[in-house]
Amino acid sequence: MSKGITSKSEDYSQWYNDIVIKADLAEHSSVKGCMVIKPYGYSIWEKMQAVLDQKFKDTGHSNAYFPLFIPKSFFSKEASHVEGFATECAVVTHYRLKNDGNGNIIVDETAKLEEELIVRPTSETIIWNTYKGWIQSYRDLPILVNQWANVVRWEMRTRLFLRTTEFLWQEGHTAHATSQEAVEETEKMLNVYADFAENWMAVPVVKGKKTPNERFAGALDTYCIEALMQDGKALQAGTSHFLGQNFAKAFDVKFTNREGKIEHVWASSWGVSTRLIGALIMAHSDDAGLVLPPKLAPIQVVIVPIYKSDEDLKNISAFVDELIPKLKGLGISVKYDDRDTQRPGFKFAEYELKGVPVRLAIGGRDLENKTVELARRDTREKSTVSQEGLDLHIAQLLEDIQSNIYKKAADFRTEHITEANSYEEFKELLDGKAGFISAHWDGSPETEQKIKEETKATIRCIPLDNPLEDGICIYSGKPSIQRVLFARAY
Ligand code: AMP
Repeated sequence: MSKGITSKSEDYSQWYNDIVIKADLAEHSSVKGCMVIKPYGYSIWEKMQAVLDQKFKDTGHSNAYFPLFIPKSFFSKEASHVEGFATECAVVTHYRLKNDGNGNIIVDETAKLEEELIVRPTSETIIWNTYKGWIQSYRDLPILVNQWANVVRWEMRTRLFLRTTEFLWQEGHTAHATSQEAVEETEKMLNVYADFAENWMAVPVVKGKKTPNERFAGALDTYCIEALMQDGKALQAGTSHFLGQNFAKAFDVKFTNREGKIEHVWASSWGVSTRLIGALIMAHSDDAGLVLPPKLAPIQVVIVPIYKSDEDLKNISAFVDELIPKLKGLGISVKYDDRDTQRPGFKFAEYELKGVPVRLAIGGRDLENKTVELARRDTREKSTVSQEGLDLHIAQLLEDIQSNIYKKAADFRTEHITEANSYEEFKELLDGKAGFISAHWDGSPETEQKIKEETKATIRCIPLDNPLEDGICIYSGKPSIQRVLFARAY
């Protein structure tokens, strides 16, 4: 019962699209670059949101909501910010349509906005314009706010989940009395993201800093988590920015400090998006479909009855009716698929495609033997297990699957971080198994740019735990103090 997924080794990019579409996660919309997130895909996002939201609250943050529209004058106040986002802005210029008399609906040119509005690509400007009214004294600080929202960046080359014109995300925007506190916040939230990626998504990440070239527009420092996909390409999975006093200066946000002196406020911002769903798919899935880490799977266990008579189904259902509350009591989400419109084989293929971590099949013989057939999605192994203590067995199995998926991804990443000591070696690696390449770089934006133009590889990050090591730049031969991580990236 093949649903016709292209094999990963044949065409990775088609394999990815096939999974997104056939696992019913999302589809292309009639608006170029924008996707429809379907209920199953959205339920994964909801799981991610719930975990992240709790983590934000546990670290002292509250949610708030700011407008979708940003007046152009606000948006232009921080020079490097507007420069960085200028080419990706959707701009609202009018507020009314009219019938031209010939049955055509046209823009009413008389209804022109006095000031154009930018559809937010990110909210620093509107938020800092608001913070101006919230902050007078050190007693008003820190402000620790997060917003769950959609944003629009007019991207030219889009991919479902990984890069879309409109995407869903959260953006944290914090205000602090000191530079040190803002830096600590930036690092704290990077660690929250890394913890989420590794312990919930089962995706190992490298924590690092971006080079000045790759920094967020308006940031003094951009920290990131970088993940490795199964085709050896990197993916920026989350960012946390130290904004210094740039936005406070642009919006004139000052406060009286403990010493009674007036100062500009210090800032951080941080975000992860629906791109994380793309990362989940690309990091774990296989040729049978999606592989989901149990902690983020909307359905963790599916039960499929295998029956010939109504009597069989009744007996199986009676057993299942007892099992389900036990599983739910252990916090396990479970679905009993007793549809009589599909055969078991069809259902098996469907749940494999959708990445459900554990599948139970129960037939008449299982009832006699007091067993069930259990299949785990990650290894696709099947076993016959006793009905006795089944709930606890499944709880343990879900934990095993979670750690097995992580280990597989971590082993893959370890095998795909390679040192290169010359430009030749670097290019050979890029043509071969790719992954992260650890190499010396002279620290100049020019060298970074040349390497990018010639090889399409970018500096993903300068890892935070990087040891200093004297060497020579693989491109320029100039002295270098440390290796950085290069890769081709999504
Ligand atoms: P930034 O505000 O540029 O630091 O981005 C914040 C987060 O959104 C990062 O995790 C990015 O990887 C992600 N992101 C940026 N652009 C897009 C896009 N077009 N589609 C989906 N996610 C994005």
